[in-house]
Amino acid sequence: MIDFSTLSDFGNIQADVSLASRTTLGVGGHAAWLFRPSDEMALIQAMKKIPEDTYVFPIGRGSNLLIADDGIDALVLDLGALNALQTDGVQVVSGAGSRMSKIAQRAATAGLSGLEFMATVPGDLGGGIAMNAGAFGQQVSDVLVSIEVLSRDGQVQNISRDNLAMQYRYTALPQGSLVLSATFSLVKKDAEEVKQAMRDMRSKRSATQPLNLPNCGSVFKNPEGDFAARLIESVGLKGKQMGKANISDVHANFIVNQGGASCADVLGLIRLAKNTVKQETNIDLEPEVKLVGCTL
Ligand SMILES: Cc1cc2nc3c(=O)[nH]c(=O)nc-3n(C[C@H](O)[C@H](O)[C@H](O)COP(=O)(O)OP(=O)(O)OC[C@H]3O[C@@H](n4cnc5c(N)ncnc54)[C@H](O)[C@@H]3O)c2cc1C
Repeated sequence: MIDFSTLSDFGNIQADVSLASRTTLGVGGHAAWLFRPSDEMALIQAMKKIPEDTYVFPIGRGSNLLIADDGIDALVLDLGALNALQTDGVQVVSGAGSRMSKIAQRAATAGLSGLEFMATVPGDLGGGIAMNAGAFGQQVSDVLVSIEVLSRDGQVQNISRDNLAMQYRYTALPQGSLVLSATFSLVKKDAEEVKQAMRDMRSKRSATQPLNLPNCGSVFKNPEGDFAARLIESVGLKGKQMGKANISDVHANFIVNQGGASCADVLGLIRLAKNTVKQETNIDLEPEVKLVGCTL
């Protein structure tokens, strides 16, 4: 990988940075470079200096990532500075670097409903758009109007929701593009009712998920008409341990890091769950967690 230290003109650039602490699972090796542009304009200018064949990987909160133990030979982008957030009538407009919980809170305070689920998803908006995040029967695509993206040639483009082919945990972003911001259209509702709904969702979450240990949320997507957790539990793998990772005994679609788990430990459990469920039920479980620098 080439020397990107000159990107310091556009923000903060560091070489050979550990990614484990930048993921909620706490697993993974180093990135060749980590760049945090100081604002959107700096990012656009920097993008024009980055050769097109560079492996550029945007990272949000790292709450849906399993990163290889050997790390990645990539320029990792942290868009945390793109965190402008405003409401205008029934619309909410936010930069990709805003925490989804903060967006949910802002919408609630403005008496706007439709983003309550975001209070329970521990990611940034860019990751939420890329994953079409959702919970409790709501998802990003239900209320998204459009996004602004930055392509690898430095062009900014507005794309409407209908041109993103959004499905369950999937968004068809143009190849290599970065989400800069998003606009949502919500409905008016009593602010206290919206806040109460968020509190209820949060307490359901803490009762049913192993939130006391590092994890990456749901490891597999739910297959149509069923639940990955039910299937993994039904084949007897709840609580199964490999190295320092185990399939949670609270929620079988979560893998938790007991302290010092490696990517190999987590991958081993993912393979075991996938293969056992396939053998015993003939159902193919598809990972929801993004495997970065590693494969099944
Ligand atoms: C305890 C827990 C509970 C969870 N519950 C839910 C849930 O209920 N529903 C749900 O959907 N998910 C859930 N998740 C998973 C995760 O929070 C979501 O997928 C979230 O949207 C990821 O956001 P992030 O910022 O962490 O993205 P990251 O994990 O950092 O990245 C995810 C993907 O998005 C890409 N990406 C990030 N930013 C950008 C950008 N600006 N432009 C283009 N691509 C980008 C990354 O390259 C990567 O491919 C949970 C995770 C945890 C740990």
